[in-house]
Amino acid sequence: MIRVDLRSDTVTHPSPEMRTAMYEAELGDDVYGDDPTVNELQQRAADMLGKEAGLFVSSGTQGNLVSVLAQAQRGDEVLVGDQCHIMNSEAGGTMVLGSVVLYPIKTDDFGFLEPNLIQEAVKPRDYHKPPTRLLTIENTHNGSSGRALSPEQMKAMADAGHEKDLNVHLDGARLFNAAVALGVPVSELTENVDTATFCLSKGLSCPIGSIVVGSKDFIEEADRWRKMLGSGMRQVGIVAAAGLVALDSMIDRLQEDHDSARHIASRMAEMKGISVDPEHIQTNIIRFGVPEHTGDQIAARMKEEGVYINGGDSDLRIVTHYGLSADDYEFTISALDKVMKEIAS
Ligand SMILES: *Cc1c(COP(=O)(O)O)cnc(C)c1O
Repeated sequence: MIRVDLRSDTVTHPSPEMRTAMYEAELGDDVYGDDPTVNELQQRAADMLGKEAGLFVSSGTQGNLVSVLAQAQRGDEVLVGDQCHIMNSEAGGTMVLGSVVLYPIKTDDFGFLEPNLIQEAVKPRDYHKPPTRLLTIENTHNGSSGRALSPEQMKAMADAGHEKDLNVHLDGARLFNAAVALGVPVSELTENVDTATFCLSKGLSCPIGSIVVGSKDFIEEADRWRKMLGSGMRQVGIVAAAGLVALDSMIDRLQEDHDSARHIASRMAEMKGISVDPEHIQTNIIRFGVPEHTGDQIAARMKEEGVYINGGDSDLRIVTHYGLSADDYEFTISALDKVMKEIAS
């Protein structure tokens, strides 16, 4: 039996207020642009991120995919961080479906791409090389334990791309976590990028969906790709209604998830066999080290205790989220303490 599910913030269920909004949502056929709820969500999200237009897509993966395909042609190259989600966790979609090549740049421990590394990776005009068109950056950075990159860091990376005539796309699956952790309006993190995506279905607790934002022209192109990918959806306002509630009422509460993660990490730091630096936990993701080849065993033992976490050889991941209580987190800490003692003996 699952008592506490910490595998991801994607396991969150819609709030009671979302259910009501979904039930009551005004609907239309969104392929004709007639769904008022979707239209409102798209415009509200675009306004919050300081862009002209928005597009509701089925997932973060699809948001990144249409964003890349709308900004790079077959045979073009896109610069990405070597630890980023687009590179490692989206099934190579840009390469398979768009024939767009990804070129990985070394990421520092905090999810930042050094501007000089970005610029050195841009290919000269030369018919031996794919033309470099786009840079993508990620905030919060999932692979770096959910680190939030500051407006200054965002600007430094984006400027490096723009100086080389690249467009810059932000994979902001957990962008609102970054804004809350840094105490800045989300628009400060998107100010310097051309296009961005964020997920409604993670910490914001909606059942489905992500949003892409950018210029009107870009959104028109992204919409064409979305149609081609089979996600021209009909009365999708029934889902978008939850997104409007999320933007109203689920952002500020992300701080609770961050505080819980910091608390759990500080308790974990006292456990033998775990390596984690609580000071590095800024948002809701805790990546922690355990002795080599024990990770899967620890995850399996935790599951028997009723706590689901993401396993690996020596790296594990816990994600805090809406729907869990202080009791659930204390239960997790005790279970982990018990399991780590077993592993050590
Ligand atoms: C989860 C995630 C995505 C993809 O979102 P899905 O909705 O699961 O497709 C993209 N980027 C990052 C950084 C993510 O964490």
